[in-house]
This record gives sequence, C-alpha cells and structure tokens, in this order.
Amino acid sequence: MTRTEMEALDHADTLAPLRDLFELPAGVIYLDGNSLGALPKATPARVAAVVAQEWGNGLIRSWNDAGWMAAPARIGDKIARLVGAAPGSVMVADSTSVNLFKLLGAALAARPDRRTIVSERGNFPTDLYVAEGLATLLDRGHHLRLVDPAGIAAALDDDVAVLMLTHVNYHTGAMHDMAALTRAAHAKGALVLWDLAHSAGAVPVDLTGCNADLAVGCGYKFLNGGPGAPAFLYVVPRLHDTLRTPLTGWLGHAAPFAFEPGYRPGTGIARTLVGTPPMLSLAALEVGVDIALQAPMAAVRAKSAHQATLFTALLEEIGTPWDLRIASPRQESLRGSQVCLAHDRAYPIMQALIARGVIGDFRAPDILRFGITPLYTRYVDLWDAAAALGEVMARDAWQEDRFQVRRSVT
Ligand SMILES: *Cc1c(COP(=O)(O)O)cnc(C)c1O
Repeated sequence: MTRTEMEALDHADTLAPLRDLFELPAGVIYLDGNSLGALPKATPARVAAVVAQEWGNGLIRSWNDAGWMAAPARIGDKIARLVGAAPGSVMVADSTSVNLFKLLGAALAARPDRRTIVSERGNFPTDLYVAEGLATLLDRGHHLRLVDPAGIAAALDDDVAVLMLTHVNYHTGAMHDMAALTRAAHAKGALVLWDLAHSAGAVPVDLTGCNADLAVGCGYKFLNGGPGAPAFLYVVPRLHDTLRTPLTGWLGHAAPFAFEPGYRPGTGIARTLVGTPPMLSLAALEVGVDIALQAPMAAVRAKSAHQATLFTALLEEIGTPWDLRIASPRQESLRGSQVCLAHDRAYPIMQALIARGVIGDFRAPDILRFGITPLYTRYVDLWDAAAALGEVMARDAWQEDRFQVRRSVT
C-alpha cells in the first residue's frame, strides 16, 4: 500500500464525515479510543448547559423537569440499540467493575447449588478480581476456574453457575463467538455474563439473538463518554422478575420515594440501579452515544475490519526486521477493533511513538496496542503511524532515557 492509496480510501469512506464531530488535536494520531474515546465537539456545551441551566437554574426541580431521573434508562435504551438488546433491558449505572459485581452476584444467587465461575485466564483483571472478591464475601465455596480460550467449552460442567467472559480481549483483541459460547453454557445449565467493554460501539453485538443472559460494558471507550464515564449493564427480559443483585440501594427499590425501611426490588431493569445518577457524566456520555447511533454498525464493522487488516500488513512489513510480532488475530472474524504487536521493549517503543504524536498504549508485559475507532480513525493515520514506528526502530529512538521510566498509567 502507498500513502496515496490510503488517502483514496479515506476519500471513499462513507463514515469519514463523522470525524468532524470530534475534537482531535493537530499533530496527533489517536489510536487509543479503545481506552479513552476522543472528546465529541458537542460535549463541552452540553455539559456546560446541564451545569448552568439545569443545575444552576433548575436546581432540584431538574430531577423531574430536565429528565435527570430518567437519564440512566433513557441512555440505556440508546445503548441497547448498539448491542442488540430489547428496550428496557439496558441500564446505565456505576462503573463496569461495580456492574460486574452486581450481575455476577445476581448470577451466583440464581444458581444456588453451583459453585464454579468459569472465565478466561487472560481476561481483564478487574473482572477476575471482582469474582475473587465475591467468592470471598459469599464464603460458600465458590471458586474461579480460569482456562485458555480453547478450553472454555471443555471447562463447562454441571457445577458451573456462570460463564463470565469478555467478548473482545483487551490485550490481544481476540474476539469470542458469543452465540456459540452462550449456547454451550446454557447446555450445561449455566448463565453467561458478557463484558462488552471493547465491543460496544465498535463491533456488532446481538445480545438478543445470542440469547445472552447478562452483560456489562464501558462508557468511556468506544462510546466516547469521557474519562470515568458511567458504565452500562444488560439483563435479558426473562430474568427481570427473578434476578436479585447484592447491591440493594434505594434507587433500585420499587418505590424509592416511599422511603420504606425494608428493600423491595423495583420492576424490570430498574432494580439494578443503586444510587443517585451522576448527571454531569451522564450528559457527556449521552452525546457520545448519540454519535455512535448515527453510524450504521455494518459500516463501522466493515471499516474497522478493513483498517485492521491493512494496518496489520503495514506493521508486519515494518516490524519484522525489528522482531516486532503481530499479536492480534489475523482473521477478521476473530478480531475486535484493535491491532497489537509484541516486543520485549514494548514500553519504551510506545513512549517514543507517543512523543512523535502517535498515541497507542502499552499493556504489560510486552504488548503495543493500537485501537481503531472507525468514527474518527483515517486510513492515512494508520499509514503514518506505521511509518513513525519504522522511524522509531530505525533510529533506536526508543532507547532514550526518558522513555524508560514507567508512569502510573501505561
Ligand atoms: C476497560 C475495562 C473495564 C473497566 O472497568 P472500570 O470499572 O471502568 O475501571 C472492565 N472490564 C474490561 C474487560 C475492560 O476492558
């Protein structure tokens, strides 16, 4: 591929106009939208209006008058359209970690005579830590069985209460077959909890079609909701009346403003709420979600898959002489929206790239990670990023002292 060919692809790209909806600094190629999505241009004014008018003038009246109290379910319904969920089955609340705790706790309670949680050894650590913490808290002999991707189906037996997986692996970008694994778990009587942190807004997800039971996902990655944006959770409608989460807060109560001393779960997805919605963060998240809804998912997926394939080829050509190895799947159907390289000096190499304005990230111990966000990633960005990597390697730029110091966020 030549740079001119990449420019031609940008020219023909039907999603290209969406890039204008984002604030992207000059001189930066941003390939980290899978960790913190870019700022939509409309977000500052929207948040400012919520602060100045809805809070400043409306004061407490805005819980009713400005639709604040309805925001978690309203935005949840919008996210539902992105992940193939029925209206009324997605709620925006808390963080991904907390939602995992709520739904995993609910799943274990729904399978009281089973003790095993199956997950993937390479799953995102918070998912595993939450499971560990819940097992300790419950103190009823639950244990986490960690397996490699190829061993998941074989690890499912009659003691498995829940199969808890992340759809797209944060480290390698490998994507599971959600429908097949959900079927396999159901065949053994287990529930399935999917983490969609690296899926929502980036790859097609059909929770209803897969008959998935439970899911959680992240607001600040491909949904561009801002740092620490509220997360979301999904409960399949058939479980709405029976599922009980262990975090029983007043907003999940059937009648929060009756102020009863005893807990009664609310109806439907409402019972998954815990406390007061973070309105400023929800306002920012809604802007990002509204943009995601403008982009047809088939076009998003086609662009992401094509870009990842081209970028893989470019990185391979440039990286092979330097022993940079492709660590993400090469087959489109097995890959989410990122490309990864492995190298034992991955950290300083990524720091040297960032110093040149190519922002990806490092994931311990040896991964250079490049997220592809079809709403704003251009083909030419990928060509330029690969060229910058070639320069960093050819000039040994990564060997500078300043790139060796590990910062707290990598
Ligand atoms: C990003 C991510 C999270 C983040 O959880 P927080 O509670 O928002 O910090 C959780 N799980 C996976 C798989 C992720 O990729």
